Amino acid sequence: MNRISHWIDGRLSEGTSGRTATVYNPATGETSGKVDLADGGEVDAAVAAAAAAFPAWRATSLSRRAEVLFHLRELVDANRKEIASLLTAEHGKVLSDALGEVARGLENIEFACGIPHLLKGAYSEQAATGVDVYSIRQPLGVVAGITPFNFPAMVPMWMFANALACGNTFVLKPSEKDPSASLLMAELLAKAGLPAGCFNVVQGDKVAVDRLLEHPDVMAISFVGSTPIARYIYETGTANGKRVQALGGAKNHMLVLPDADLDMAADAAISAGYGSAGERCMAISVVVAVESIADELVGKIRDRIPGIRVGAGAEPDSEMGPLVTGEHRDKVAAYVAGAGDEGADVVVDGREDAPDQGFFLNPSLLDRVRPGMAAYDEEIFGPVLSVVRVDSYDEGLAMINDNPYGNGVALFTRDGGVAREFQYDVNVGMVGVNVPIPVPVSYYSFGGWKASLFGDSHMYGPEGVQFYTRAKVVTSRWPDPRTSTIDLGFPQNR
Ligand code: NAD
Repeated sequence: MNRISHWIDGRLSEGTSGRTATVYNPATGETSGKVDLADGGEVDAAVAAAAAAFPAWRATSLSRRAEVLFHLRELVDANRKEIASLLTAEHGKVLSDALGEVARGLENIEFACGIPHLLKGAYSEQAATGVDVYSIRQPLGVVAGITPFNFPAMVPMWMFANALACGNTFVLKPSEKDPSASLLMAELLAKAGLPAGCFNVVQGDKVAVDRLLEHPDVMAISFVGSTPIARYIYETGTANGKRVQALGGAKNHMLVLPDADLDMAADAAISAGYGSAGERCMAISVVVAVESIADELVGKIRDRIPGIRVGAGAEPDSEMGPLVTGEHRDKVAAYVAGAGDEGADVVVDGREDAPDQGFFLNPSLLDRVRPGMAAYDEEIFGPVLSVVRVDSYDEGLAMINDNPYGNGVALFTRDGGVAREFQYDVNVGMVGVNVPIPVPVSYYSFGGWKASLFGDSHMYGPEGVQFYTRAKVVTSRWPDPRTSTIDLGFPQNR
């Protein structure tokens, strides 16, 4: 049995808590390994290793930190296929999608290679006579990342690339559903020249998370996962005095206007709705169709569904793999059943003809879904597209803005004026214009609004650098007999 352990102070560290969780191969439904679940003492050991490594890593020059990241960039690039295979084996996503995940994660390492430029402060000469003022950004210390099952490589890279580049040391608590990629990344970081203790992995569940949330030496927490847990992490972490960014769940809409290219819109809905079996926080889950084109658009989406090749992620021909666990597959299937009961039209029922083996569910298409139905109100996180029909652009926009989530949204139109109005008015953090999955490039930052993000900072990019550093402003004067006087008044600059 494959045993998946912790990585503490530069080496593998077998769990001692006596608790484990099962890791599955979602394509077969078989057990592929056991992952250790850390207890408080194991978390303490990881934090202690990170705390011990911090002073030397913080003192390491910017050029050397950048050099380690450049090495890491080369190693991740050279090991793309190996990382992607691990993702496919434990998450289930198809290989091409897994390779895309690695590529998007790598972009964050490439961004962090520019850390000498990113950490430049500001300098004001002669703020007062003989007085200069300058700002510097310093690392926080030990920071932790808690990550979801759906991007086991990319989301950790969103976090640790910038965190380490800024001079922090890191403790990662990956998802217990697909934990192996975290250990390969730890090995690559060590090979890249990162000193022992700077990057640690504790495998685990709520027990490990709760210890990180209360540990006095953890200065900041980055979290990505579902909204209820994101809210809990934010509230508990901030109550314990930590800096927290907690990204939550999503319900992403794609508004299709009558002037849109409907073939392009249907292709986009299929790709963004069923890619990665809908297990993406930026997946399109609701197509909002203006009534005059709704029948045609639903027809075009329906006609494309039989062409989607569902199969094991490791098969080169597969376009959509299984869901992550049997339990999750059953939960998603229940939304399809429930939608019919609540009055939606089940145009394509993905429960039919799904492979018996593994955690498969075929793509489903629901029409005439409305707010108030579970399929609309709740995050499904599976291969289910719901079509909501509206009479106008204004009705569609109002519905999107009323939705409690605000992660991603897309508008399909040929009208630039309407697109500009939409980006101005929509209450969502990441907007696509004829782009269905508008995940920002690594030199912007990623984050939603409303119940999709708790905290002030978005993740990675410039806001990531901001999150992992704190500002210090120095006001300095060098002894100069010509300007030295006694003045008990409040210092003024004029
Ligand atoms: P999850 O919230 O169940 O788990 C996320 C992490 O929290 C895991 O490491 C897990 O071990 C831990 N966790 C779970 N329950 C906990 C508890 N009770 N107390 C403390 N920690 C706990 O999420 P998931 O199922 O792994 O991932 C899917 C969710 O993540 C979806 O809701 C998806 O939208 C969201 N997600 C959001 C983004 C984003 O950027 N906004 C990106 C990816 C995924």
